[in-house]
Amino acid sequence: MNENIDKIRSVLKKRDLDGILLYKPENRRYASGFTGSVGYALITETDTIFITDFRYTQQAAIQCDGFEIIEMSNTKTVTDILDDLHLHQLGIEEDFMTYGQFMEFAGRLKDTYMVPLKGAILKLRSVKMPDEIKNIEMAAHIADKAFEHILKFIKPGLTESDIALELEFFMRREGASKLSFDSIVASGERSSLPHGVASDKIVEAGDMVTLDFGCVYNGYCSDMTRTVVLGKAGNKQREIYDIVLEAQVTSLKAVKPGMTGAELDAIARGIIGDRGYGQYFGHGLGHGVGLEVHELPHVNARGDVPMEPGMVITIEPGIYIPDFGGVRIEDLVLVTDSGYEVLSKSTKEFLELEV
Ligand code: ZN
Ligand code: ZN
Repeated sequence: MNENIDKIRSVLKKRDLDGILLYKPENRRYASGFTGSVGYALITETDTIFITDFRYTQQAAIQCDGFEIIEMSNTKTVTDILDDLHLHQLGIEEDFMTYGQFMEFAGRLKDTYMVPLKGAILKLRSVKMPDEIKNIEMAAHIADKAFEHILKFIKPGLTESDIALELEFFMRREGASKLSFDSIVASGERSSLPHGVASDKIVEAGDMVTLDFGCVYNGYCSDMTRTVVLGKAGNKQREIYDIVLEAQVTSLKAVKPGMTGAELDAIARGIIGDRGYGQYFGHGLGHGVGLEVHELPHVNARGDVPMEPGMVITIEPGIYIPDFGGVRIEDLVLVTDSGYEVLSKSTKEFLELEV
């Protein structure tokens, strides 16, 4: 955790701040290790302070290594505590703080000026330390095992929700604390919904089924997608699968330090566009993954930040044809010194499941 504090302090210096106040759960955890639901991690040049209420002071004392714990209450609010510290320039999470919180702070703080952090902590979080990578690898490993399991489970007559529930049970039995997002199980024509959360639709022979899921291990997320067919595939199903796979593999192979998210996105988009399906690939190629399932870096047309070793991203092109169906293939990928390592190991072979 000390390395994270060092990194946060570099922001302090660069931005000429007296303190950084973190309330967003993932940023707060990144700084302090705290996993509870209420608390502020305050980092100044010399101090690390964790401000929380009675319910969490014991937990904070255990989890927040090196932090001084200060208890807030109705009579001693976080703004009272901040005032006592005489911080003039305080970095705050303007993209997370609510308007209500902002108004309260603005009204109560006497000589502290709130300065937007402009995503500085999110940027730090985009490059992972070895311990963080281990947790993501474990979350990816659990998801891989779940995919292997679910291939034997899926059969005509089940609902998408049955399949999603089985995925969840399996991953939690294997050590996941929760899902990293509501599993997407989209079958038949519903597979053209890029984010078709599992419904009570019954899966049938001939359906393509898109499974997009992941879990949380030690706070860190995994995310992967595979698309399979129940029974014998039709020609068009196979055609769009092959195009998506080519786009996925080609853009994946281009991952290395220095490449931007926009460049990777353009590779996949070029392949799908050349085959005449450009209009059916309406989302970005991928995203960063860590304490949150969607985080920096951007892996889409906006992604102008060069990849760095330690970044963890997804590569997930897709083709979605209304009233027909869709295919998405998504891997979780670690950027390494020499290129990349795929953390989701499940096969991407075109699978026609026995019915
Ligand atoms: Zn996904
Ligand atoms: Zn994703």
